[in-house]
Amino acid sequence: MKRKVAILGATGSVGKSTLDLILRSPEQFEVCALTAAVNVEALADAARLTGARLAVINDRNLLPELEARLAGSGTRTAAGPEALAEAAAGEADWVMAAIVGCAGLEPVMAPVEAGRTVALANKEALVTAGALMIDAATRSGATILPVDSEHNAIFQCLGANRLDQVSRLVLTASGGPFREFSLDQMRAVTPEQAVAHPNWSMGAKISIDSATMMNKGLELIEAHHLFGLPSDRIDIVVHAQSVVHSMVEFIDGSVIAQLGSADMRIPIAHALAYPERMATPAVRLDLAKLGTLSFEAPDSTRFPALAVARQALEQGGAAAIVLNAANEVAVASFLARRIGFSDIARLVGEALARASPAPPRTIPDVMEIDRSTRVMAGELVAKVAA
Ligand code: NAD
Ligand code: MG
Repeated sequence: MKRKVAILGATGSVGKSTLDLILRSPEQFEVCALTAAVNVEALADAARLTGARLAVINDRNLLPELEARLAGSGTRTAAGPEALAEAAAGEADWVMAAIVGCAGLEPVMAPVEAGRTVALANKEALVTAGALMIDAATRSGATILPVDSEHNAIFQCLGANRLDQVSRLVLTASGGPFREFSLDQMRAVTPEQAVAHPNWSMGAKISIDSATMMNKGLELIEAHHLFGLPSDRIDIVVHAQSVVHSMVEFIDGSVIAQLGSADMRIPIAHALAYPERMATPAVRLDLAKLGTLSFEAPDSTRFPALAVARQALEQGGAAAIVLNAANEVAVASFLARRIGFSDIARLVGEALARASPAPPRTIPDVMEIDRSTRVMAGELVAKVAA
């Protein structure tokens, strides 16, 4: 039986890697739905290549163009948030959540509430609504498969072991393009330098997050929700080669690590085939050629975002929503050259100190805290930019 899949965010970096794997094994997959924000051309091409039954564009103004591009293809077209929810919780029993940012939260809740298998790349959804999402999955019987390479590694390392057999998780971090930069050098970096990640090719937002190391802070919160361990049992170690994707230390002192080349198709394939395995064209590891793997403690002075994120996790309540929303605004403002690179973490810290909204009880609560934080963060940006 073919697995019926939907890809939310099909035109992005993770979305394209997922499509690449599906097109290599067409006998295993049937594409029910593909979605994108604004890239009509890439969405229409992907729909034609995969024979997708439904293609959804977020921006309603672009629907006529999508219809024209897919005329005669047999792919149904639709636009807007309701159509996105239909794509997410329609016929597919396996859904890739690869929209970037908190914008991906409402769409991913649909398949979670419908009890589907959700391959989760969109870390911001877990950061902002982790407890609500895990509760919903428990109620509906949905399976959440982590796609973020670190969390997928931990998921593989845990195997059938129980949580009470685990002493701690160790997330590896590449350290990003500025791992060896001084604070002075970092103040002057441009968006072009910051998006050029040394090991991974990714979307702009996560590339900037990797450069500030906020990405590892978000992943710390993501790991907390996925695996149910507190902050003091999740460590971060800098590992420049991105070969060890993360580790689990068990109570007997054994440490299990997952290794592989830095190719997102490996964790995506793990989720696509789960609980089986499927072949990928990812480059095989040649450890003798690599020679050395290095590990070092992260530098909290040059990368303050790590401590800010850990503080948000420990604070609990709505703090992680504030952290994430302020970071999304700060990253967009840096990419638009309105603020400097070092302003990002500072601005997020300031937002966290200013706002302490009541803990969210529902997804609309989360979206409202996200909205109000964006307004406040926008004001902080305007002050820096002035
Ligand atoms: P990307 O920017 O390359 O792609 C984002 C996708 O989301 C696109 O298809 C875009 O059309 C869609 N999108 C953006 N805004 C939207 C909106 N408001 N409504 C609907 N759709 C929207 O991003 P990416 O690098 O593929 O990352 C996707 C997610 O996966 C992020 O949460 C990221 O943190 C996570 N992730 C990515 C990687 C990676 O290697 N790229 C690795 C681990 C985790
Ligand atoms: Mg990651």
